[in-house]
Amino acid sequence: ALYVKDLCKTYVINKRQNNVLKNVNLTIYQGEMVAVMGPSGSGKSTLLYSVSGMDRPTAGEVLLAGKRITDLKEKDLAQVRLTSMGFIFQQMHMLKNLSIMDNILLPAYQAGGGRSRQEINEFCMALMRKLGISDVAQNDITEVSGGQLQRACICRSLINQPGILFADEPTGALNRSASEDVMEELNKLNQEGVTMMLVTHDMKVAAKCSRVLYIVDGNIKGELEMEDGDGQEKFRERKLNHWLIEMGW
Ligand code: ATP
Ligand code: MG
Repeated sequence: ALYVKDLCKTYVINKRQNNVLKNVNLTIYQGEMVAVMGPSGSGKSTLLYSVSGMDRPTAGEVLLAGKRITDLKEKDLAQVRLTSMGFIFQQMHMLKNLSIMDNILLPAYQAGGGRSRQEINEFCMALMRKLGISDVAQNDITEVSGGQLQRACICRSLINQPGILFADEPTGALNRSASEDVMEELNKLNQEGVTMMLVTHDMKVAAKCSRVLYIVDGNIKGELEMEDGDGQEKFRERKLNHWLIEMGW
């Protein structure tokens, strides 16, 4: 599980303090798929980055699989990020002048560890087949569609077989149909056991998660559990819709 205790993040610009996260507490259990929603500027991305150690929180602690990652030195934290966490960014951050496949492979080579190049390559091929992008493996990142690029980002986030995936607007740049396809893949991965925390503005995306957190002004204002009995998509969406209106969406 992922435990977040009294997490605070303050940015200082020109000596002015901006308290973006104000004592956030949350737990994400193994196997959950948790959506984070909230108004623009409420601190969603900051929360994702502070929780995952992409950025250092100002105060508070984060425990991942029993390890207090907020105490780790940068080098050790970087290794935890590389080997236990996956990231999907809204701006994708793929490297130009590298093929899709090389982009996906990069974190595996960086991580080192026990796998041979051949094992890594085979795992990468399997991932690309699974996400339906193996035919563009050798294309440059400028030579694929937005949906294919986002799938490549998913492959890259999974190359080191992380236990938890953090995604910031993973469907933000996609049209409705590409977004539905990507969500289907993320749901499948979640069913295979990958825990997920994802930020989204999209109700249809959030309705596919097991729990939704609503953050306003750096605090979690509410959370909505999706019950198993809510399996019907329309019912889930309606339930979420009502709740979001209550939250002031
Ligand atoms: P959106 O839905 O628009 O993506 P968000 O909820 O993700 O919004 P954040 O990006 O977390 O919002 O930003 C929250 C606040 O923190 C904003 O006031 C923003 O200006 C500020 N902020 C974010 N990143 C930084 C940074 N690196 N340095 C200084 N201030 C920042
Ligand atoms: Mg954001």
